[in-house]
Amino acid sequence: MLEIKDLHKRYQMGDVTVNALNGVNLTIDQGDFVAIMGPSGSGKSTLMHILGLLDAPTEGSYKVKGQEVSQMREDELAIFRRDVIGFIFQQFNLLPRMDAAENVALPLLYSEKRLDLDKAQGLLEKVGLGTRSHHRPSELSGGQQQRVAIARALVNNPIMILADEPTGNLDSKSEKEILGILQDLNDQGITIVIVTHEEEVGMAAKRLIRMRDGVVQSDIRRVPFTENHLEKQAAESKLSKIPLASVYQHFAQGIKTLAANKVRTVLSVLGILIGVAAVVAMLAIGSGAQAAMEKELSSLGSNLLILRPGAIKSASGVKADAGASSKMTQDDALDIKNNIPNLNNVVSTVSGRCQITYGNKNWSTQIVGTNPAYALMHASVPQSGRFFTAEENLARARLAVIGMTLVRELFGGANPIGSMIKINKVNFQVIGVLPTKGANGFRDQDDAIIVPLNAAMYRLLGKENVDSIEVEVSGAQFIDAAQEQILSRINTRRRIPVSQQDDAYQVRNMADIQNALSSSTKIMSLLLSAIASISLVVGGIGIMNIMLVSVTERTREIGLRKAVGATRGDILIQFLVESIVVSGLGGVCGLALAWVVTTVLTYFANWPADISFASVVLSVVFSGGVGMIFGIYPARKASLLHPIEALRYD
Ligand code: ADP
Ligand code: MG
Repeated sequence: MLEIKDLHKRYQMGDVTVNALNGVNLTIDQGDFVAIMGPSGSGKSTLMHILGLLDAPTEGSYKVKGQEVSQMREDELAIFRRDVIGFIFQQFNLLPRMDAAENVALPLLYSEKRLDLDKAQGLLEKVGLGTRSHHRPSELSGGQQQRVAIARALVNNPIMILADEPTGNLDSKSEKEILGILQDLNDQGITIVIVTHEEEVGMAAKRLIRMRDGVVQSDIRRVPFTENHLEKQAAESKLSKIPLASVYQHFAQGIKTLAANKVRTVLSVLGILIGVAAVVAMLAIGSGAQAAMEKELSSLGSNLLILRPGAIKSASGVKADAGASSKMTQDDALDIKNNIPNLNNVVSTVSGRCQITYGNKNWSTQIVGTNPAYALMHASVPQSGRFFTAEENLARARLAVIGMTLVRELFGGANPIGSMIKINKVNFQVIGVLPTKGANGFRDQDDAIIVPLNAAMYRLLGKENVDSIEVEVSGAQFIDAAQEQILSRINTRRRIPVSQQDDAYQVRNMADIQNALSSSTKIMSLLLSAIASISLVVGGIGIMNIMLVSVTERTREIGLRKAVGATRGDILIQFLVESIVVSGLGGVCGLALAWVVTTVLTYFANWPADISFASVVLSVVFSGGVGMIFGIYPARKASLLHPIEALRYD
C-alpha cells in the first residue's frame, strides 16, 4: 500500500546540509503492524511526516495506493490525510479551546462538513474516555489526551494509523493501554506504523524496522501476516463537495474563537462601528439639513421673484457716483403689477435694525416694512390677531405684527395683542402674532416684526426708496418670462443705459436659490461621509492587523487542521468568516449607534435627520466588504502555511 524508493530528505541550515533521510527503500502492506526504532536524530519523524503526507521528500518516489504523491495536488493530499491516514503525534496536538468530543470530531468538519459529536462520543467510549467528553485537554492527563488524539485519528475510519512516539510522553500504564488500543485496531485490519523507543512496543509489532543515520539498518518480520484488503468507500467523492455547506460550521467556529478573545474582538468591532456610525449619521444629518432647508425655502414660496437694485459700475470698473445708482420706489412696484401678466401679488419691502421696547424690556431685531399681501406670500398670516390692511398701510398706521420670539422676550409669553410697544421710540400697537416657524440652524425665523410699509419708510427708517420688490408669479412656467419682463420694464422706466443694464437691477428666483442651496448641502453631506468612510478603512486595517496576529498566534492550530484534512479553501474560509463576522458585527452596531445619534439629535436639536434605507444597505455592504478585503490577505497567508512547518511553529 505504501511504497518508498530511494527517498531523500535534506534540510538546509545555513551552510550546513542535514541529510535527515539518505536513500530509504520501504514497502508497507495493508494490514501490517510495523514498528520503527532507532536512536534520536536517525530520521524516524522525518520519515513518518513524509508517510503521513505532512511533508514532502527532497528526492525519490513515494506511492500511496499506487498514486505518486509528488504528482498529487495540494487538495488531493488534504483529502488523503483526511480519509486514508490517521496521524498520532507525540505531543497530542489537541486544540486547547475545544473539549475532548469536539477535538475528536474536528476532522469531520472537513470530511462531512459538520461536527458529529455523537460519533465522537462513540469513539471516546471505545478508547475508555466516555465520561470525559466535555473535558478540555488541560483537564486531562497525558495518557487521556493521547487517547483523545487516537479517537480523533479514527474518526474518519482511516485504513492506516501513523503514530510518532505516541507513548514517548506517557507513563508505562498509559503506554500499555495505548499499545492495546493500537493492537485492537490492527486486529480489525487497520495498518499501523509506530515509531517507538520502547523495546517492548517494538516486540509487540509484526515487523520491526531499525533506522540509523537516515537509512534503514535492519528490517525483520517477527510475526507472519496475511495482507487484507480493507477498502475505504467513496473517499474520492468527497472532493467535489462544495465548501458552502461548511460555511455555517465555520461561522460557529469563528464565533467561538472571537468569543475566546473578547477584548481583541470588541476593539476591532469598535473600529468598524465608529466608521459605519459616522458614515450613516453623516448621510442622515446631511439629508436632514437638506430637508430643513427645502422646508424653509418652500415656506417662502417657490414662485417668488425678488427684484433688488444692483451696484452700477462706471466704465472703468469702479463704483459710479451716487447719482447714477439704481433705485426703486412703490411706483415701480405698481408699474410692474399693472403691466406684467401672470402675477399673483407684488409687494415692496424695506428693512432695517430697530430697538424695540416694552415696559422695561428691550429687544433689538430686524424689522420688515411691507404691503399686506406679504402675509400670503410668506406664509405669515397671523396665528392670532390680524395683519394690517391696505388702508392702514396708506395711513402709515403704527401697527405691528410680531413673531413668537418677541412675544417671549418682551411679554414673557403673555398675550401681546392690543399692547403698545416702542419701535425706535415711536409707539406702535401689536395687532397680531406671526405663526411659529422654528429655528432651522441658520437663524431664528420667529425673531421677526412686520409693520406697514409706509410707516416703516416714513416714521422709522426715513427711506424714500424701497429695498426690494417681491413678485409672486401665478405658476412656475411663467417664472422665466416674468423675470425678463420685470428687468426690461424697470431698466426702461429708470432709463438705464444698455451698457449697465446687466448690473443695475437683479432678479433673484427662489427656485434657483433653492437648487443652489440644496446641491451645496448635498455636496457637503457627501464630503462629510467621504471623510467618515476613511475611518471605515482605518477600521478595516485594524481588522487586518488583528487577523494577522491571529494567524501567527494560531499557526499550530492551522497546521493541525491541515494535518487532519483541512484544505486550503477550508482554512481560507475559516479566517475570512472571522473577519467578516467582526466587520459585520461592527456594521450592525454602527447602524444602531447612528440611529441613537440621529434620534437624539432630532429630539434635542430639533434637527430632522432620518436614516435612509440606501445608507443602511450601503453601510452593511461596505462594512462586509471591508472585512472581506482586509481579511483576504491574512486568510490567504494562513491557508498557504505548510502543515508540518506550521505544527513545528512556536
Ligand atoms: P528522529 O525523529 O529520528 O529523532 P528526526 O527525523 O526528527 O529524527 O530528525 C532527523 C535529522 O533531521 C536530525 O538530524 C534533525 O536535526 C534534522 N531535522 C529534523 N527536522 C529538521 C528541520 N525542520 N530543520 C532542520 N533539520 C531538521
Ligand atoms: Mg522524532
